Amino acid sequence: MSAMETHNDRVVIVGAGLAGFGVASGLRKLGHVGPITLLGEEAHAPYDRPPLSKQFQIDGDEAALRLSPEPLPEVQLLSGCPAVALDLEQRMVQLQDGRRLPWDRLVLATGTRPRMLPALATSPRVMSLRTLDDARALRQRLGAATRLLVVGGGPIGLELAAMAQQLGCHATVVEAGPRLMGRSAPALIAEHLLQHHRSQGVDIHLGRTVVSVEDNGLALLDDGKVLQADVVVVGIGVLANDGLAVAAGIDADDGIFVDGWCRTNVAGVFAVGDVTRQVHPLSGRLERMETWSNAQGQAAALAAALVEPATAKPYDETPWYWSDQGSLRLQCAGLTEGDTHALRGDPASGSFVLLQWKAGRLCGVSAINAARDFNLLRRLLAAGSTLTPEVLAAPDANLKQLVQQAQSA
Ligand SMILES: Cc1cc2nc3c(=O)[nH]c(=O)nc-3n(C[C@H](O)[C@H](O)[C@H](O)COP(=O)(O)OP(=O)(O)OC[C@H]3O[C@@H](n4cnc5c(N)ncnc54)[C@H](O)[C@@H]3O)c2cc1C
Repeated sequence: MSAMETHNDRVVIVGAGLAGFGVASGLRKLGHVGPITLLGEEAHAPYDRPPLSKQFQIDGDEAALRLSPEPLPEVQLLSGCPAVALDLEQRMVQLQDGRRLPWDRLVLATGTRPRMLPALATSPRVMSLRTLDDARALRQRLGAATRLLVVGGGPIGLELAAMAQQLGCHATVVEAGPRLMGRSAPALIAEHLLQHHRSQGVDIHLGRTVVSVEDNGLALLDDGKVLQADVVVVGIGVLANDGLAVAAGIDADDGIFVDGWCRTNVAGVFAVGDVTRQVHPLSGRLERMETWSNAQGQAAALAAALVEPATAKPYDETPWYWSDQGSLRLQCAGLTEGDTHALRGDPASGSFVLLQWKAGRLCGVSAINAARDFNLLRRLLAAGSTLTPEVLAAPDANLKQLVQQAQSA
């Protein structure tokens, strides 16, 4: 198909989060002239989620969340309008309100939903945090609360615990694993976070879980301990919203399988963002990335591929994310484990980078309050650097120069 033909395609995007919005805006910017429809299950215009567990809990500023101050030019946004089925033969999307939308290119950007502990699901004090509506409800409850209990010691739970402390609400975190951030950060970083949050007054219970929460706020842990909580937030990970895809026969397993061009196994059907499962460029495993940068990067790559298929490049950015936990900015790229590690900077100073290598190649960079070094080292990681621990950890290493050398090699 020539570029001119694809420019006129009818594109329907299911899911109006960061990834869906990114595809729509990218297509328009790159000159796609055919109709674009962006379908959102939520009643809101596209907004950004990271502030929901951070600044939004303090200032409640909803305008600051919007992904675009103005509606996207000539994009039909249907908010509060879930898609309920895909007809791949007829190339139609079935909407809940009975309408059927035809497409030439279909993009699935349906994101994820929080996992819940079944034993806690019906308690009126228990909630999760994914949407603006969740964040509004949590903010309202925190305003009247003095004790927050967070189940899950991952990034969102720790961000919330830090926010609650800032709001004068005592936070307790209960984590089932032996350490914090078990899936998303190296052990040494997790230990630093543990010490930091404890020093700020957050109570943290490792290797424990919450078995019940009474309507009066009494929470029972599996070791028999009882805690009192006004609000309980469960942050134990997410599940992919891949039900539409699965029902239509698109390959998925808690995440829609895509290649570097965001293609599914069905011609003309693409998927982007948290809902996808793709090959991790460093581990080689099929993984869900669940990060802002992945949603944005895949969306931009797909828009480019749809407008100019002949020159399209696969999306292969080294995965990375950030997490603001009170006064700490954590940034992690690549893998969380290697066979060798080195520190750049001193953890006691509050600003440092943990570098990790596997078989002589840089495989992971994790920074605490060291954004400049992180951004340079992330580029070395992406370039497949084999520079040694001695070189990269040296306090006088000129990282900018090393990046330039690596990129011109
Ligand atoms: C509280 C919070 C804090 C975060 N903080 C960070 C951070 O600090 N750093 C970071 O890197 N990442 C962070 N993230 C992750 C980041 O926000 C996500 O990776 C990103 O939002 C993924 O975008 P997405 O468009 O793929 O999915 P989503 O943002 O989940 O959007 C998917 C949209 O699709 C809609 N949808 C689902 N099914 C249908 C349907 N059938 N029909 C129509 N619409 C449908 C959903 O309602 C949703 O609005 C955070 C996430 C949360 C929830």
